[in-house]
Amino acid sequence: MVVTVWILGDQILRKHPALTAAEQQVNKDQLVVLMIESQARARRLPYQRKKLVLLFSAMRHYAEQLRSSGFQVDYRISPGTAIAIKQHLQAYQPEIIYTMAASEFGGRRFQQHLERQFNIPVNFLPNTQFLTSRFNPYPDPLPDKRYVQEQFYRKMRQHFNLLMQTDSEPIGGRWNFDKDNRRSLPKSAQPSRPISFEPDEITTAVMEEVDQKYPGVGQITGFDLAVTHEQAHQAAMDFFDRRLPDFGPYEDAMSSAYDTLFHSRLSPYLNLGLLDPLELAQKAQKRFDDGQAPINSVEGFIRQVIGWREFIYWQYWRLMPDIAGRNYWGANRPLPQMFWDGNTKMNCLRHPLQRALVSGYTHHIERLMVISNFCLLAGINPSAVNEWFLSAYIDAYEWVMLPNVFGMGLNADGGLIATKPYIASANYIHKMSDYCQNCAFDRKSRTGDQACPFNFLYWNFILRHEKTLRSNPRMAR
Ligand code: SF4
Repeated sequence: MVVTVWILGDQILRKHPALTAAEQQVNKDQLVVLMIESQARARRLPYQRKKLVLLFSAMRHYAEQLRSSGFQVDYRISPGTAIAIKQHLQAYQPEIIYTMAASEFGGRRFQQHLERQFNIPVNFLPNTQFLTSRFNPYPDPLPDKRYVQEQFYRKMRQHFNLLMQTDSEPIGGRWNFDKDNRRSLPKSAQPSRPISFEPDEITTAVMEEVDQKYPGVGQITGFDLAVTHEQAHQAAMDFFDRRLPDFGPYEDAMSSAYDTLFHSRLSPYLNLGLLDPLELAQKAQKRFDDGQAPINSVEGFIRQVIGWREFIYWQYWRLMPDIAGRNYWGANRPLPQMFWDGNTKMNCLRHPLQRALVSGYTHHIERLMVISNFCLLAGINPSAVNEWFLSAYIDAYEWVMLPNVFGMGLNADGGLIATKPYIASANYIHKMSDYCQNCAFDRKSRTGDQACPFNFLYWNFILRHEKTLRSNPRMAR
């Protein structure tokens, strides 16, 4: 008897549940692990080429690791997933497929039809990559009810016993230290860059292949990301040692000189399964317990991991597929060309757009308060914005981008995910960054040729939508 364990590309888990379950049924020599690099999937959008290198290299390292642990691995580079599965079934004649549910809607649909499509039994296991698979604060959500991230986060903190004084009291007497975390970057600050990893033989081969076959956005050169569990662990330690203490206070700061500032840049590894969210949050808490990082930094980081990231995944599955068609503000303008070439005189957009296009990374405030803010104010179509985010970023997967763009960024869901639209004029950008200092536009002007576009777009948005905004208690003022 042969058993196939199909492991998806973004499920590079140290302990994969499908593999564990199959090992309990048959001997190792009866198991074949199937991994697929689908060229059709990788060409669906003009994806960030550094992301493709990260994904394929991490998959190939994982396959090697499984082989060295004695597993037989059928690693297929194929025009498409269905073709690869068909060829695999012909070659190995398995009696059953074990697989873990995909994190994305389309992938999970495909798995659900696997049994019928290929006429083979499928053991379809629940996804364990997210903490909500271990504890779901709202297991039976109501369709149009508004669930607030803060409440979700507190339930997660309590359940997983993170930063808790007692069962119900948070350490430090507060759940949220956001008020301490809004400082702009002082001139003397010198954040250290995230740790760099030299491409090895496998990564170098992937870089050459992606360069030749995938004409997406971004450059292959300069790829230095972690591609194994060990390297991702080193990247996490590098963040804890060198940036976590200052992460909190400058979490919202933006700079023309530094792209990651004190951020972790661990999301690409979390989203691939190279890091576990609970382990990461527990390690952050240990830094606080040992007196190596202040509460506002540690709480801010844990909130991102077990609060926001999990809330977004939970909302994605609650609202799919309807959320993808929402357009609450009736925004239908096309995405401007500057999103694809970074060519604009607006300093605050030029820096993050160019960073996103070249490296695939900007931190969350630039994504929310500059790029998404601009798109919401300018009335850019939400689907076009979503496709751009999916294309440009190294950590982009549909489950994270779609609710972030349609919900948090553009409020296109009418407020199901975030309680108000996140809009701001040049005042906010000036307060939190150095961008306005060397900009071609005047941050103080609202009209005229030199007026900052964020100002006239902001007031235009408020005038156009005054009635709707007045009906939102958080915006009425
Ligand atoms: Fe951006 Fe306006 Fe500031 Fe220029 S002046 S950097 S366009 S906010």
